[in-house]
Amino acid sequence: MPDRLATLERDAILRALAIEVRRSHPSPGRSPKETPLAERLRRLTHVLPEEAGGCHVFLGQLIKGGYGRVTIEGRKILAHRAAFELVNGPIRDGFDLDHLCRLSCCIRLSHLEAVPTAVNVRRGLVCMNGVTHCPQGHAYDDTNTYLQKKGSRVCRTCLRLKAREKRAAQRAA
Ligand SMILES: [Zn+2]
Ligand SMILES: [Zn+2]
Repeated sequence: MPDRLATLERDAILRALAIEVRRSHPSPGRSPKETPLAERLRRLTHVLPEEAGGCHVFLGQLIKGGYGRVTIEGRKILAHRAAFELVNGPIRDGFDLDHLCRLSCCIRLSHLEAVPTAVNVRRGLVCMNGVTHCPQGHAYDDTNTYLQKKGSRVCRTCLRLKAREKRAAQRAA
């Protein structure tokens, strides 16, 4: 049985989203066959209660990295980008959309921020998939993170400790 408050909240958000979208897109010249994007996004979105982060979770097709994807007039576009651009217009060159909530499939506008690409990469480094620390508990911050070519992170403190252990073992041998 869904929480009644959460349901009310969700309805309010969905209404707000519909209004936002209608305002920014008065009457697009779309084909009558295609459901308007805003409507499609709304149908495919599950709104989490505020206590649970309030993310608008996209339930449609997901691609690598957990990002949602929609197809608009044969063109594939990231769902969170589609939602953002629908309301705010195209994202400028050199800018990326950053998920402040770190949930890739979230399309809530207030959880998205257009930032210069470099900033997005740095933030992603610190908090990739919500993981902020290495398995030993060292922070993946700017100075402690070594980024491998394939994109995964390595903890510099752990590297240092391992090297020290190895040297100690060699000395003891
Ligand atoms: Zn979110
Ligand atoms: Zn570590």
